[in-house]
Amino acid sequence: MRKRIVILPGDGIGKEVTTEGKRVLEKIAEIFSHQFEYDYATIGHDAIEATGNSLPDGTLTKLKNCDAILFGAVGHPKYDNDPTLKVRPEQGLLKMRKELGLYANLRPIKLFDELLSASSIKPEILKGSDILFFRELTGDVYFGEKGRKDDGKTAFDLMIYHKYEVERIGHKAFQAARTRKKKVTSVDKANVLESSRLWRETMQEVGKQYPDIQLEHQFVDSAAMKLIQNPRSFDVVVTGNLFGDILTDEASQIAGSMGMLASASVGDSVGLYEPIHGSAHDITGKGIANPLASILSVALLLDISFGMKEEAEAVIKAVEQTLKNGYRTVDIADSAIPKDKILNTSTMGNQILKELSMVNVPISQS
Ligand code: NAD
Repeated sequence: MRKRIVILPGDGIGKEVTTEGKRVLEKIAEIFSHQFEYDYATIGHDAIEATGNSLPDGTLTKLKNCDAILFGAVGHPKYDNDPTLKVRPEQGLLKMRKELGLYANLRPIKLFDELLSASSIKPEILKGSDILFFRELTGDVYFGEKGRKDDGKTAFDLMIYHKYEVERIGHKAFQAARTRKKKVTSVDKANVLESSRLWRETMQEVGKQYPDIQLEHQFVDSAAMKLIQNPRSFDVVVTGNLFGDILTDEASQIAGSMGMLASASVGDSVGLYEPIHGSAHDITGKGIANPLASILSVALLLDISFGMKEEAEAVIKAVEQTLKNGYRTVDIADSAIPKDKILNTSTMGNQILKELSMVNVPISQS
């Protein structure tokens, strides 16, 4: 199969981890005889430095004309420490999601058994956890009206949701639940927020079209507690942009580390695949970033955008086997891991490629 992929490394460790993601794509193309063409584009701090714009028009054109996007992360300490700067890397990310109509962010939270001891949560609570988050991505406080009142001492961000925005992500969550344990947990703050009451009301209406799926509602504060107390009680979780942002970072602890969580953003057109973590200034340039979230994002890309189930499964199995063989990056290494098994970003990439080299491709595909 011939496909065009745009690599959008972004800032900080985004560059380091997408390098490994691309190597995995190249290996998959080689093994399964696909033709993947690659193009690069800039976003975030690098793009601001080069053009003054966090999402240059040239980038957007490339993104609109490809088959899938592999994205790293944006962000730079310069902006984090100076809230007065008007042009910011994250604006490029939000604009990209809006322009490409990427309204549904899928975040699978699955714990590899080998990492049971890497989490700060007790293994007996974690074992068997398998949650699929649907975070709404183009509404909420991120896109509502925002500003300061005249005296500069009052600020506001409007939390806004339209019914159609809740309906379309609601359908995606129910459809996904049909292929899993048939349960949807909708998370809101309907006891306080009007936008959450619209969210809940709409989810109840959408739910009537899926009588085979159990729908439950939880308030976000209680959901945050139950995620840690009993993660196995969740199957599909659907929630708004802000609550989803926070809850999925919390849920990364179920998977052991931020460096393990992949995501897919889908909607009207091309799909975008990225780790859930940011540009991680604290470890940028040290070569120690865990590339597995980016590599698992490649698996999502192959599966969702290209329908390449077997190729996606091969990537996931290579990650699983590498962990079984005892290899870790430092963020997922507990004290029992010997020093020679602790890898850096590129040597972890090498191990994944080594595992992939052992994949047997059926004769019909080779
Ligand atoms: P972060 O996700 O970058 O880092 C949080 C912590 O997790 C850090 O200690 C970091 O070292 C660790 N971590 C993250 N990814 C890792 C990996 N692959 N391997 C090992 N450790 C990893 O979040 P932050 O520190 O709050 O934000 C840093 C910057 O990233 C900020 O500028 C923020 O705006 C930006 N950000 C961007 C995105 C995005 O592009 N999607 C998402 C979140 C944050």
